[in-house]
Amino acid sequence: MPKQNWATSALNVLIANRCLFCGSGGEAVCRGCFQDLPWLEHCCKCCALPIGAKEGICGHCQKQAPPFQHCISLWSYDFPIDKVIKDFKYQHNSAAKQFLCLQLAKLVSQHNKHRISNFDALLAVPSHPFKRLIRGYNQAYVLAREVSKHCTIPLIQLIKKSRWTGSQQGLGRKARLQNLENSFQLTGPVKGMKLLLVDDVITTTSTASIISHMLMDAGAESVSLASLARTPQHMTT
Ligand SMILES: [Zn+2]
Ligand SMILES: [Zn+2]
Repeated sequence: MPKQNWATSALNVLIANRCLFCGSGGEAVCRGCFQDLPWLEHCCKCCALPIGAKEGICGHCQKQAPPFQHCISLWSYDFPIDKVIKDFKYQHNSAAKQFLCLQLAKLVSQHNKHRISNFDALLAVPSHPFKRLIRGYNQAYVLAREVSKHCTIPLIQLIKKSRWTGSQQGLGRKARLQNLENSFQLTGPVKGMKLLLVDDVITTTSTASIISHMLMDAGAESVSLASLARTPQHMTT
């Protein structure tokens, strides 16, 4: 383990019994902070974009139906969950990782229970090997692995990011799609499978759409998405 990661982990153990959000003692996340998180309630039935209405489909999905069936997310990517997701992603904060993985696993489990047809397999949105080298791991894979264990749905690693695309931050939907074109590769069969694609944050659905298209073209029966958070529209345009 790199020195910095070791130090971060040691610090996490020391503060393990403190609330991730307010620092009060006793629990990893205190009840008050848990309730105050920006839970995603009013969002698009297809892509989970926060739209402020209980039922409905957002403008993007009305214009063009997405290649995935639907998207399940826990939170709107807002304060204070955004900071904890960044701590998990960039700082290897193990308390943040445990909390986030468990919440996503619970959401997928509830969802899986209430559906007539269960998911056959989970897939993680891949990152380029260079990015993994810099960051130390792929956070989408870490999430998918924990969800897989908790929900006993097999995790299959059949997507590779074959081309370095740089950061997508600051790019609009169209520019993201152009940037991602031909950057993913499928390495095994998915014919007839109901798949759940896992990512940490879904921003414009460009990545998810490109991968879903690829999986559907390869004969998957359906593709759904699961993520920790969904970025509100005002932050993506
Ligand atoms: Zn708290
Ligand atoms: Zn939508």
